Formats: sequence, structure tokens, C-alpha cells
Amino acid sequence: MSDSPPSTQSDSVGWYVHLPFCRTKCGYCDFYSLPTIEHLIPSLVTALEAELDARNPHRPVTTIFIGGGTPTELPQPALNQLLTRVAATAGAVDEWTVEANPTSASELKLETLATAGVSRVSFGAQSFFEDDLRVLERLHDPKHILESVAAARDVGLSNLNLDFIYGVPGQTVARWRETLSRAIDTGVPHLSCYALMFEPGTALTRLQQQGRMTPIDEAIEAEMFELTIEMLTAAGYEHYEISNFAKPGKQCQANLIYWNNEEYLGIGPSAVSYLNGERRKNVADVRKYVEIAQQDVDALIVERETLTADERAAETAVQMLRLTDGIDVARFKAQCGIDPHALFATPIKEMMAAGLIEASDARIRLTRRGLLLANYVMRGFLDVVGSVGVGNSGFVQVGVE
Ligand code: SF4
Repeated sequence: MSDSPPSTQSDSVGWYVHLPFCRTKCGYCDFYSLPTIEHLIPSLVTALEAELDARNPHRPVTTIFIGGGTPTELPQPALNQLLTRVAATAGAVDEWTVEANPTSASELKLETLATAGVSRVSFGAQSFFEDDLRVLERLHDPKHILESVAAARDVGLSNLNLDFIYGVPGQTVARWRETLSRAIDTGVPHLSCYALMFEPGTALTRLQQQGRMTPIDEAIEAEMFELTIEMLTAAGYEHYEISNFAKPGKQCQANLIYWNNEEYLGIGPSAVSYLNGERRKNVADVRKYVEIAQQDVDALIVERETLTADERAAETAVQMLRLTDGIDVARFKAQCGIDPHALFATPIKEMMAAGLIEASDARIRLTRRGLLLANYVMRGFLDVVGSVGVGNSGFVQVGVE
């Protein structure tokens, strides 16, 4: 096993900015976010600016993603101040996404996004049914989703994503079908559909542990996933990642950076960066973040990790396996300096025999059956190099707004 750093890495980077404020905490959410604390916002924006100045790697920026939390919860002046600084520092980018939810995206805020140069908005829609939204402890009603989409389009923001969740306790396949149908009717070019997860420490998990909420049957959840693929691909969306669907040319470029395991700068409380082969995580406490940023920006980093070449290869493999195109063998070799067919010969053989992956000289990818058992396949790839902390710990920031 080799232990040198990866050989080739693109010079460009993506930027991620984390704003950890939400109006209330949704029952399923394990992201670092807390109810809006107005008095902390001015000092948080100042701290984010300080971190951006200090950490700017001065490399070409391809994408910006401002997530959280709910960035549009910031009062308009603070939102404007932050966006203006980000735009001035990054320069022109290919894609600039901001996450929003349907109760916080006022016309004024959407105009602020558009004026600053934001090119894409991702709304946490989750369901077109009140019953599902109440189980998920979301604040909005189904009508707010359509209102938000219309308001975004009114200010010229048409490159939109809607996040949805299936497998909600009490949800039926028919109800999920109707949510998908209404999502398609919106005509937005990108849809993310995630299975509900009962993450440790969330309100939903506590209800489950107390016997007050029962997760949906796995077979029904699998049926919902299959239905998602069938309906969205029939409607012209490409299924390009396990949970993500896009009209041609509308894939999320920021998330493709994570799924290709390329480098990015993360700014803000709990944000993760991956630069020069090193993964770094910021302190996940907004008060400490603000306090530390005033004194020593370097001290914001509370975890650092440099993977060996084999660990990095395993991490890259499991990220790329999320994509329906799978591992691009030539790209993987250029990026990791390792032949994936050689390093992963054992899991490839086993998973092929089980009908979970298909492999050629050019690609290694999940089959339709493998998509349903993706975690199992990925575990097999990670086992080749033992445990890979980053790959297992949720360091990579993709998820449900
Ligand atoms: S799911 Fe989104 S809106 Fe809800 S608490 Fe988490 S970050 Fe905030």
C-alpha cells in the first residue's frame, strides 16, 4: 500500500459557506443549525468575512454554495453584506447556489440574491402534503413551495432545485407519487429526492426510540425510490446521482465537486475544507466561532486529517460510486495515481457476482439493484483500506436543506 499524497488535483476549487441559522429545528435535521439569534448575526458576518480573507486559497473559483441552516433567514442587510463580499472575493463563477426554504424567501431576499449574482436557488420543499410536512416539523405549507418558485422566477432566478423527502412515517406510495407529479409540474430543472434518515440526536429519532414513531417499511421505501427513478426519468430528468435528478446540463456543479472528491474551501461554523490534500473542520459552535475569529482565524480549525493515497482512493471511489456514471477509471487514475481495478479487485469481483455493480475498462458503476444497496457496496470498497474516517463521518457536505 502506498502512502504518498494523491498525484493530480485540479487547480480550481469550490467554495462552501455555512450559515447555521434556522427559524426552528426540523425534526429530522442533524446539520449544525440553531434558531436564529439576531444579536449574533452582525458579528457572524464579520467573522465569515475575516475567515474568507484569511483562508482564500487564491485559486480559480468554479462554484459557490451558501448553505446551512437557512441563509435566507439572515436579515436583508446582513445577507446583502455577505453576498457582496463573497462576490467581490470570488469573482465570476460558473454556478452560485443559495439554499432557501419556502417561508424565508421573500421577494426582497430573492432580489438580493439575484442582484449579487446568485445563479441558482435550492428550496427545501420536502413534500406537497401537509401531513408529511408536519411529521418532518417543517414550517411551510405546500402552497408556499409554488409561491417561492414563482417569486424566484419573477426576479430572474430560474435555475432552481427542490429538495424532497420520501419514506416519511405515514406516507403512502400514492402520496409520494402525487408529490413527484406536482414536483414535475413545477418545471424546475433539478430535483433532489432523499430517503428520510433517523439520525442520532434528532427529534424524530427520539420519538422513534420512545416508540412514538415507526419508520416506514424498507420494502415500501425501496418502492418509492424505484418510483422516483421511473417518474423523473420519464419526465426528462437525468438520474445522475443516487438522490439527484436534473434536466440536461442542469446538474449541480457544486455537489459534483464533492462527488468527484475534488477540492473545496469551507467557511463558517462546522464547515469542512479540503485543500492541498488536507481535510479541515471548523468549530461547530457559532458563539465560539465568532469569538475565535476575532483573535486567531487559524484556531477555528478543530480537526485536521491527511489521508494516505489508498485511503484517498477509497474515499474517491465511494464518492464517485454515488454518481450513476460511476467511477471514471481514467479520471480516477489521474486524480489518485492508482488503478481502481487493481486496488478494488476483490469488492469489484464480489459485487459483480452479486449483480450490484458493472465494470468495464472505462467505468465501474452501480447497477439498478446496486443503487438500492449502495451503502453495502461502498462499505466493501472502504474495507479494502480499513476504516476511512472522512468517508464515514459525514464530513462531505451534501444533504437535505
Ligand atoms: S432541515 Fe434545513 S431548515 Fe430544517 S433545521 Fe435543518 S437546515 Fe434548518
